[in-house]
Amino acid sequence: MERVLHYRAYRPRPFTKEERKSTTILFGGLTFKHERLIQAELERSGYRAEPLPQIERQDLDIGKEYIDVGACCPTTFTAGNLARTLITKAQQEGKEKVINNYLFVTVGACGPCRFGQYHESYERVLEGLNLTDFRLFLLDLLRMEQSAPGGGLEIDMSLTFGLVYAMFLGDLITDMEYAIRPYEVKEGQTDRAVKDSVEMLYEKFKRRPVKGKKLTSLFWHVFTDYFVKALEEVRREIWDHIHVDRLRVKPKVKITGEFWLQTHEGDGNYNIKRWLEREGAEVIPPPIAVWMDYLINMELFKLEDAKGFVKKYYLKKFVVQTIAWLYRFVYNRLRKALNDIPNPLPDQRKLKELAKPYFYYRLTGGEGHMLIGKALYAYKNKQAHMVCELSPYGCLPNTMSVGAMAKVLGDYPDLLYAPIEIKGDAEVHAYSRCQMVLTEAKRRAKEEFEEALEKTGLTVEKIREFEEERPELRRATYKVPHYGYAGTSANYVMHVAKLMGRL
Ligand code: SF4
Repeated sequence: MERVLHYRAYRPRPFTKEERKSTTILFGGLTFKHERLIQAELERSGYRAEPLPQIERQDLDIGKEYIDVGACCPTTFTAGNLARTLITKAQQEGKEKVINNYLFVTVGACGPCRFGQYHESYERVLEGLNLTDFRLFLLDLLRMEQSAPGGGLEIDMSLTFGLVYAMFLGDLITDMEYAIRPYEVKEGQTDRAVKDSVEMLYEKFKRRPVKGKKLTSLFWHVFTDYFVKALEEVRREIWDHIHVDRLRVKPKVKITGEFWLQTHEGDGNYNIKRWLEREGAEVIPPPIAVWMDYLINMELFKLEDAKGFVKKYYLKKFVVQTIAWLYRFVYNRLRKALNDIPNPLPDQRKLKELAKPYFYYRLTGGEGHMLIGKALYAYKNKQAHMVCELSPYGCLPNTMSVGAMAKVLGDYPDLLYAPIEIKGDAEVHAYSRCQMVLTEAKRRAKEEFEEALEKTGLTVEKIREFEEERPELRRATYKVPHYGYAGTSANYVMHVAKLMGRL
């Protein structure tokens, strides 16, 4: 009789505490800023940690060799990135060492998108490379405390909060970077500032105190000023020394789209943020913190839907509302340390309401209703001249949101929207689509600037003279308030006029 080989799901070998000293945790998927800070936090907790190399174009081809060809573009890129890393390490150190001295950690969640099945693709990579004994651990995105089989990897309250802070600080430095680089007077200064800030924060994370367990730990992490002081130091020592020229007229482009594609910086999204800057734009990058805020608020909205059917409704609502409030409280304290240059988190309830006529918020997966809410929010609040939306090839959830955007654009024909499909190997096509909308955004930015000059009776020369008297205006960390214009230069003109007493 023929032997039947039943399917067996991948189960990693245990990782024990004794192995911590000799085993390196590999992880990836974010920007180098976020990853470096996560690495610091893991090292502080007693682990050896190493981010995967930055995504490259070749990862797409490598990924296609090992996983389902219909997989979405982020899955293919990240699976290819893992495969490339393991192949290189096996060539340099040998297969046995890769199996015993490294493991890979990723996060997952339940849902209709492939985020729930990323690990399956990674398992195909291990099979393809004949490395099925290599350990791959999947962590739950929504659990504060968890451990991997064997007890070697223990995510406790303190480590979880440390990772959240790493995410926040990575986001805030990214916001500073994109708000300042287009206006820097000395080219390259912002890029150096980003690197120096990340290294300074890396040291802060490694030396950070750890206070108490559970409740004590929670209170310490919410109310500590340790990270606030670290950011204030970064601002004083690094960012305060950069000079900017805010009279450069630039269209503001808000990036939205699928989570990985919009936060990624590199070949995975054709490096579109840098390309936009080279084309003369100021980019508003999407913080990862918005995603977590979305998940917390979704719990609140679901609870509100179930009012009348849930026991202890008011108590549960109070708990979730408090978590959501504390989350913002911490984020805003950190923003303040950078003089509020980084953008605030959008109000999730407003996003939901704005999207309501077009998209049912319980249809989750991808960005869900946020894609619509964010575009309308940016348009109605004059946050940006244009929205560039990055859609991954092969993504079902994102296709639904993009479909709903067609109706939004019918209702708001003035909204400048550039939906870009990202396949990973068609950048010329993507750039040219974006370019068409960007041309109109540039025209609007110029128009706004001229309107502000006319309204205030100012000229560029007069503003320059005033800047001589008030040199702090040229400092990168000087906060220019919003005067109802989307563009930085138009708001700056209004601000100078106000300081001169003309408004
Ligand atoms: S949202 Fe789309 S692109 Fe992102 S992981 Fe899910 S299926 Fe893939």
